Amino acid sequence: VKKPAVVVLGAGYGGLMATVKLQKLLHPNEADIVLVNKNDYHYETTWLHEASAGTLHHDRVRYRIRDVVNTNRVKFIQDTVEEIKADEQKVILAGGELHYDYLVIALGGESETFGIQGLKEHALSITNVNMARKIREHIEYQFATYKAEDEKREELLTIVVGGAGFTGIEFLGELVNRVPELCEEYDIDPKKVKIICVEAAPVILPGFDPELVNYAVSLLEKKGVEFRISTPIKECTPEGVVVGKGENETELIKAGTVIWAAGVRGNSVIEKSGFENMRGRVKVDMYLRMPGHENIFVIGDCSLVINEETNRPYPPTAQIAMQQGEHTAKNIAALIRNQELDDFVFDNKGTVCSLGEKDAVAIVFGKKLTGFKAAFMKKVVDNRALYLVGGLPLVLKKGKFKLL
Ligand code: FAD
Repeated sequence: VKKPAVVVLGAGYGGLMATVKLQKLLHPNEADIVLVNKNDYHYETTWLHEASAGTLHHDRVRYRIRDVVNTNRVKFIQDTVEEIKADEQKVILAGGELHYDYLVIALGGESETFGIQGLKEHALSITNVNMARKIREHIEYQFATYKAEDEKREELLTIVVGGAGFTGIEFLGELVNRVPELCEEYDIDPKKVKIICVEAAPVILPGFDPELVNYAVSLLEKKGVEFRISTPIKECTPEGVVVGKGENETELIKAGTVIWAAGVRGNSVIEKSGFENMRGRVKVDMYLRMPGHENIFVIGDCSLVINEETNRPYPPTAQIAMQQGEHTAKNIAALIRNQELDDFVFDNKGTVCSLGEKDAVAIVFGKKLTGFKAAFMKKVVDNRALYLVGGLPLVLKKGKFKLL
C-alpha cells in the first residue's frame, strides 16, 4: 500500500514545530514526511530586531534545519514554494513539483505596505536574516558616510521607524543601545543622532496595558527616541518620509534610514494559489484547515483564527504559530488513523515586549512585569522556543544565558 505524503511548507515556528511533532507521532510505515524551506536554516523571527540593530550577530538567530530534524525520517527539500495547486494536490517549487496527500502551509508573513508610495523601494523591513543583515549594514554605512564626507549631511544620522507596534518598539529598544556603540566606533557626537518613531494611530503598542506602555515610552524617550503619534507616513522617498501634519499639510522628515515595522500580512503564495484570504491570511476552521480542503492545514502568520471572546483575530505571534504546529501534527496523525480531530484552542501564556537586552515589559500569566524581571522572562520565552523544537542540546547551543 502506498503511504500518504505529508508535506510541510516553511520551517519557521509553525512548520518546524509541526515537523518535529510529526516525526515523533507517525510511525515510518504510516506516512512519508517532507519539509520544504527556502533556506537550509531556521531563524528565530522574534530575534530579528536584535540582528537588525546589530546587538546580536545574525548567526546567533539561526540554526541548521538538519540539526533538529531527523533526516532519516523527514525528507528535507531546500527550495522556494511558488504556488499550490490544490485541485491537483501539487506544490509548485522553483526547482520542481511535489505531490501531497496532506499539506501544512506555514510560510510565515510578509511586510504589508498598504500601498504607501515608495515604501517598498526606499524603506527596509525586518522580515528575515537577509533583511536583518542589510539593515545593520545600512545603518553602519550611513554613519561611516557621514563621517567620511566633507559636507556634513546630518540626516544620514536620522533613523525613522514607521510603526509603534511590538516590532517597532522592540527594534527601538535595541537601537538605543546600539547607537552609542556606533557613535564611538565612527567618532560621532551622539547628540547628532536622531531616532524618530512615526505612528499613524494615536497610541503606542495598541491593545497593551497602558501602565506598561507608559513604562516603555518613558524609557525609550529617556534614551533619545522621539515619538510622533497620530502621524501617518504618506510617502517614502530617497530623502526620507513625507508625513501628514494636521488636516492637509505634509512634512518631509529627512532620514538616511527608514525602517517600516507597521504591517504584517500573510505570504503572497496564498493569493497566488487562488485561496480565499484577507491580506494573505486564510480564515481557518476549528481544526486549522482551509475551508473546502480537508487535507490542507494553514498555520502561523498565514492563518487567521478568531478569538471568540473579542470576536477579532488573534494577532500573529510565534506563540500561536508553535501551538498550531503541534496541534496540526496531532490532527494529521488522527486523520491518517481515521480518528476524530481536535479543535484548536489558543492558550495565551502572555506577552513580553523587550526594550533592549536588560529591560522589557510583560504580562505573564496575567501578571505585569517590568525591568529586569520582564527581561528575564523574555530570555525564558526565547529559550523555551528552542527547547520545544530541539530539546536541551539546542538550548545549550543557541540559548540566551547572559546574566542581567
Ligand atoms: P516564520 O517563523 O516567519 O517562518 C516562515 C518560514 O517560511 C521561514 O523559514 C521562511 O524562510 C519560509 N518561507 C517563506 N516563504 C517561503 C517560500 N516561498 N518558499 C519556501 N520557504 C518559505 N511573536 C511573538 O510571539 N513574540 C515576540 O516577541 C515577537 N517578536 C517579533 C519581533 C519581530 C522583529 C518580528 C518581525 C516578529 C515578531 N513576532 C513575535 C511575530 C512572530 O515572529 C511571527 O508571528 C512568527 O514568526 C510566525 O511564525 P510562522 O511559522 O508563521 O512563520
